[in-house]
Amino acid sequence: MRYTEEQYDNFAKHMEEKYPEMFSQPYGGFAVGAGWWPIIEALCRQIDSYTKWRNNTRESLLKDNPHNYPIPEKVPQVVVEQIKEKFGGLRFYYQGGDEFIRGLETMAELWAGHTCEECGKPGERRSGGWIRTLCDEHEAERQAKYKERFGDEN
Ligand SMILES: [Zn+2]
Repeated sequence: MRYTEEQYDNFAKHMEEKYPEMFSQPYGGFAVGAGWWPIIEALCRQIDSYTKWRNNTRESLLKDNPHNYPIPEKVPQVVVEQIKEKFGGLRFYYQGGDEFIRGLETMAELWAGHTCEECGKPGERRSGGWIRTLCDEHEAERQAKYKERFGDEN
């Protein structure tokens, strides 16, 4: 994966500081390439702002609701359990949330399925050995490394 340890640490620290409740349990780190980091960041940002908006609306209506607006259900806090790559796709496991957040998660995973995990450019699922989602350039690079290691016979 093409990032330095420092870049990884900065990203992980940024996420954990910005979303302390989401990353309040051990989750095993961001076990994916840097090309997917912006997707994870967008997903967490949407989950966070949606949860706060819904729960703040609920709180203020419980205090004062002269027009009898419907009071939304409390959205259970999302707590990340694991973030990883599996069969070339992003997997975002968590507790909490609701149907809307489930939809955000699905959207992020679909988006990652068309995004190079190395660089974030448009990519597709590549079979042969370890299944990965890569752009043409990084797929060519992977093929070259494969030939170097295992020869040309396949
Ligand atoms: Zn790429």
